[in-house]
Amino acid sequence: MLGSGITRQNAFVRFWLFLLSSLAFAVVHDIAFALESSWKADSWDERKMLPNDTRPPDRREPSMLLPPLEEHMVGTIRRVSIDSEEKIVALTFDMCELATVTTGCDMDILNYLREEKIPATLFMGGKWMRTHARRVLQIMNEPLFEIGNHAWTHGNCALLSSSGLRAQVLWTQAQYELLREETLRQAEMRGMPVPDIAPVPTLFRLPYGRCTPAALNTLSSLGMRVVLWDVVAEVGDSSRPIQAKKSARRVVDQVRQGSILLFHANRVPRGTAQLLREVVALLQAQGYRFTTVSTLLRMGTPVMCMDGYFRHPGDNKQLDGCFGVDGTGLRTPFVGD
Ligand SMILES: [Zn+2]
Repeated sequence: MLGSGITRQNAFVRFWLFLLSSLAFAVVHDIAFALESSWKADSWDERKMLPNDTRPPDRREPSMLLPPLEEHMVGTIRRVSIDSEEKIVALTFDMCELATVTTGCDMDILNYLREEKIPATLFMGGKWMRTHARRVLQIMNEPLFEIGNHAWTHGNCALLSSSGLRAQVLWTQAQYELLREETLRQAEMRGMPVPDIAPVPTLFRLPYGRCTPAALNTLSSLGMRVVLWDVVAEVGDSSRPIQAKKSARRVVDQVRQGSILLFHANRVPRGTAQLLREVVALLQAQGYRFTTVSTLLRMGTPVMCMDGYFRHPGDNKQLDGCFGVDGTGLRTPFVGD
């Protein structure tokens, strides 16, 4: 009897805890409050803390379609050959999210960049944008940050069908538009200055760095400039200071004028914030400054190829056998319907 009384009492407490946590979740995630949110990290910025919404975006076709690229722009950009002597590079951060799981938002990285006034390009998955809508609205109000497209659910562009690839790109463009409209609406409602936010992203980052000539043609028909990197910053876990310092020296040895550095800001892998601090300090000591990829592209000529890879051609092909049938985490192909 005593046992069942305790069980009933536990069930009652659990019910109220569930109700309160659901209420807190609803309040925190009402993006009507987004522009007033703190930039301080909270538990919702952790990986796997938010529910995994598998539905398509509320808008599937963006209102704005970009004109196709000119022929000389088709291919992947690895770095930019700068027209002057200026020591300048672009820091880029991928915010990837598969169909099957939610990832995080690394506020430590975003706040460090804001404090140091360092511009950066953030390549966001479309589903990631919806998961972290509140953060995207804040980011859209921060002029230091440029947003690029990183596919809806991190589809592998070498494996997706043409229609699947189109949907991965256009659903993300449409989700961006929805959040941009909400950002502008909230700014107006609060009498804040209207932020200058690009109508849609024009840069695309290949998930896994994978592509084919056919995929590059599809991306160019959608007006997306494909931006990769010439320096892969993260190798393993840089959480420990000694490891972060060691990794940073390796990274900086590879950097040259016009480099594009690859990092992640979705809390995968660990220790990126520590590594970033070390890399920035070393580069600044060498006289480098930082800008977005779009600005870097305006300063010179992109160094391009028709392939996608991390450091050497073919070094990412083994990833075709991972992360579901087409890189989205799904066991059936993503077709975008
Ligand atoms: Zn990615």
